[in-house]
Amino acid sequence: MSKAAASSTEIRLHGTGVSPGIARGTVFVYRTDDAVTPSRAIGEADIPGEIARFEAALLATRAQILELQQRIAESTGAKDASIFDAHLLVVEDRTLIDEVLRRLAADKMNVEHIFQAVAGRYAKTLSEIDDPYLRERALDIHDVTRRIIHNLMGTEARDLAGVTTPHILIAHNLAPSDTAQLNRALVLGFGTDIGSRTSHTAIMARSLNIPAIVGLHDASSQLATGDHVLLDGYNGLLVVNPSDQTLWEYGELEIKKTVVEEKLSELRETASTTRDGRHVILSANIELPEDMELVQQSGAEGVGLYRTEFFYLNKTGLPTEDEQYAAYRRVAEAAAPHSVIIRTLDLGGDKFMSALHMPEELNPFLGWRAIRFCLERVDIFKTQLRAILRASAVGNVKMMYPMISGVEELRRANLILEECRAELRAEGLTFSDSMEVGAMIEIPSAAIAADILAKEVQFFSIGTNDLIQYSIAVDRLNEHIAHLYEPTHPAIIRLIRMTVEAAHAHGLWVGVCGEMAGDIVLTPLLLGLGIDELSAGAGSVPRVKRAVQSLDDTACRQLIEDIRNLDCAADIFAKCDAVARAHYPELL
Ligand code: PEP
Ligand code: MG
Repeated sequence: MSKAAASSTEIRLHGTGVSPGIARGTVFVYRTDDAVTPSRAIGEADIPGEIARFEAALLATRAQILELQQRIAESTGAKDASIFDAHLLVVEDRTLIDEVLRRLAADKMNVEHIFQAVAGRYAKTLSEIDDPYLRERALDIHDVTRRIIHNLMGTEARDLAGVTTPHILIAHNLAPSDTAQLNRALVLGFGTDIGSRTSHTAIMARSLNIPAIVGLHDASSQLATGDHVLLDGYNGLLVVNPSDQTLWEYGELEIKKTVVEEKLSELRETASTTRDGRHVILSANIELPEDMELVQQSGAEGVGLYRTEFFYLNKTGLPTEDEQYAAYRRVAEAAAPHSVIIRTLDLGGDKFMSALHMPEELNPFLGWRAIRFCLERVDIFKTQLRAILRASAVGNVKMMYPMISGVEELRRANLILEECRAELRAEGLTFSDSMEVGAMIEIPSAAIAADILAKEVQFFSIGTNDLIQYSIAVDRLNEHIAHLYEPTHPAIIRLIRMTVEAAHAHGLWVGVCGEMAGDIVLTPLLLGLGIDELSAGAGSVPRVKRAVQSLDDTACRQLIEDIRNLDCAADIFAKCDAVARAHYPELL
C-alpha cells in the first residue's frame, strides 16, 4: 500500500480527462523501468550459494515465460505467443551463462550485479551489429534480463499481459503499443503521469471505451499496487481512498450520465442532418477490426478513418497480404452498406513496430514516417495496397494516404497503386475499379497547396491533430504546452477554409477525421466552414449527431461571418461555444 493510501484520508490527484467515464477499483502500477540492482562484494565461500540463486532464478524465469506464452496463445493465438520462443532461448544461452559464472569467480560480486553487467554488454554488442536478427535478439535479452533480475531480487516483474484481475492501471506513460494490448475486460480505467488528449494512447482509450486520465504528474510513484481509487475520466480526477460522500456523489452522477447516454442511444437509426436539412456524413474512427462493434452501436455512417498501423504493432513480423485482407474485409463487411476509409500505414511519430527496427530519431514526428516510410519500403507498401484493393471487391472501401506534404508524394503513391492494380489483374484477382483515393491534409504545406493536390485524388480528409501540431509548432504529446494547442487559432481556421475551398472548386468532398470532429463545441465551426464529413471516435458519435441535428446550417454560416474579424483563439472559441450552448445546452 502507498503512503497516500495508508493515511486512509481522501486524496485528489488532478490531470486531464481524455476518455470519459467513471471507474473504481484497485490500482495496478505498471513500471517499465529496470530494477535497480544492488552491488556487494562476496567471499570465495559465497560463490556456490550465488550460483544456486542464479540457477533458481533461471528456472523461475523459464517457468514464468512458459506460463505467459500459454496464456497469450489461449487469448490471441499461437503466432503472437511465438515471440516467447526467443525469450526461452535467452534463458538457456550458454555463452551468457558461462560468462556470468566466470565473472562471478573472478570479480566476487553478488550475482545480480554480475548478471546485469554481463547481459547489458552482451545486448549492447548485438544491438550494434548491422543485422536485424541480432538486433532483435538484443531486445529479447533486455526483456529477459529484467525478468531474471526481478527473480534474483525477489521482486515482481511487471507485465501488462500478466495481470488477471480487474484493476485501474497507473503508469508513468503508456505507448500506443501498450494501450493496444489492454484487455478491456480487466482494465477498468487508466491514468498516466504524462500525455495529452491527442496522443494515440488517449485516442485508443476512447476507442476502447476505457475511462482515462493523463498528466497526473507523479501518480505512478505516489500510488502502489492494491490502493483503492475512483477515476473520473470526465473531469480528469483520480480520488485515492474515496470517502462515502464522494462515492455517493459519483453514484448520482453515474445515474444522470446513464440517462443521457440512453437518450443518445435512441439516435442510432436517425440521420445526422441539420434542422434546415443539410446532411453531414458522420462516421467513426477505428484502430482495430474489433472496434467495429462499438461503431455499429454508435449509429455512425461507416468508418471515416481506419488507422491500420495498429495492426502492425505488437507483432513479431510484418502482417501478410492475406492477414491484412482478412482484417480489411472484416471491417468493410461490418460497415456495409456504408463505406470504410482505410488509411495506409502511418508508422512513426509515437507509433513504432519493434520488428521493423526503425532508427531512433530526435524529432520522430518530423521524421521518417507514414508515406515517407512507405515510399521507401515499397515492398511493405505494396503488400498493404494489394490487400486494400482486394478488400474493395467485397465492400465499400475507400483509401487515403497519411502525411502528404506535396504533390510528388501523391503521384508516386498513385503510381505504385497503379502497379498493384496491374499485378492483381494479371493474377486474376478482383478489385473495384472505382475505389476512391484521398489525401490526408495534416501538414500545412498540403493545406496551402490543396488546389494542386486536388487534381490527383477524389477526396481530402483533414487530420487536425497533426495539422494543429505542425502549424502552431506545438508537440501534440507534450502536456507542458497543451494550453498552446488551440484548434480555434485563426491560422488553423484559415488552413481548413483553404482546404475546403480548393476541394469544392475541384469537385472533391472533404472530411475532418482529427479529434476536432468529436468536439461538439466545434461542430458549428466545422459545418460553417463547409465540411462534408465528420469522423470521430465511436464514443463521441451520438453526441456529435445530436449536435448536428440541433443546429441550423444558416446559424453555422453566420458564425463564420461573426468570427471573420476576430484575431485570437479564445475569442473564436467563445463564439463557437455560444452557438453550441444556444442549440444544445444539455450536451455541454
Ligand atoms: C490527425 O492527425 O488528425 C489524424 C487523424 O491522424 P493521427 O491522429 O492518427 O495522427
Ligand atoms: Mg495524423
